[in-house]
This record gives sequence, structure tokens and C-alpha cells, in this order.
Amino acid sequence: MMEDSLPPTMLKEIVARLRCVVCQHRFRAKDAQIIGRRGKVWAMRVHCPMCHTQALLFAILTEHTAQMLYSDLTPDEWERFQDLPPISTDEVIAFHRFIQSYTGDFSEILDEPLPPE
Ligand SMILES: [Zn+2]
Repeated sequence: MMEDSLPPTMLKEIVARLRCVVCQHRFRAKDAQIIGRRGKVWAMRVHCPMCHTQALLFAILTEHTAQMLYSDLTPDEWERFQDLPPISTDEVIAFHRFIQSYTGDFSEILDEPLPPE
């Protein structure tokens, strides 16, 4: 459906302006894949043909321009989080209370240990 596809000229234009964050290599249109959309913001997975880094990129499209923003999330993380319901105020308050009353070591409640300094 058109809803979830960028006009090919726009996609080409976006891709032409991109560089890999790791190796600065250019992308081709086929290295970018649209994985979601919220209004004017398109989320895309880009795959570097040179170093194989995958990155999540947001393209904010207005009528004549596109602004690009790399995300800190990986494409897989984003796909996982976007299916979750929004965080409610109650959850924020509950978490705040929990943190305030928590006296232990944070590494106990994290799934993965904190990386060494
Ligand atoms: Zn690269």
C-alpha cells in the first residue's frame, strides 16, 4: 500500500545523502528498508554493504525536504519496542516509588551486568 511505501524518488534522495556511521560508505536504495511509519516520520533499517553495520534511521519528511536522524537503537530493538503499549503515568509513578525505596545494587535488577568502567 502507498501508506507504507515512500515514493521511490524520495527514497533515492534520502539514501544518496546517507553515509554509514561506522565506515562512511554510501548506501544504495536496496540497502534501505522501510520498517515503520508514524505520520511524517519513517523508520528505516539501513544495512551497510561495506562493513555490514545495521542501523535504524528516522527520516522526517515534509513536503519538499527530508531530515535524517540516526537512532541509538538497533532496528531489532525498535521493532520489538514499537509493538509494546505506551508507558502509562501509573507505571512511571510506580517505577519512581520503586527506585526511591530501592536500596540494593542496580546490577541485581538489570538483566545484564553493567559493563566495567
Ligand atoms: Zn559501513
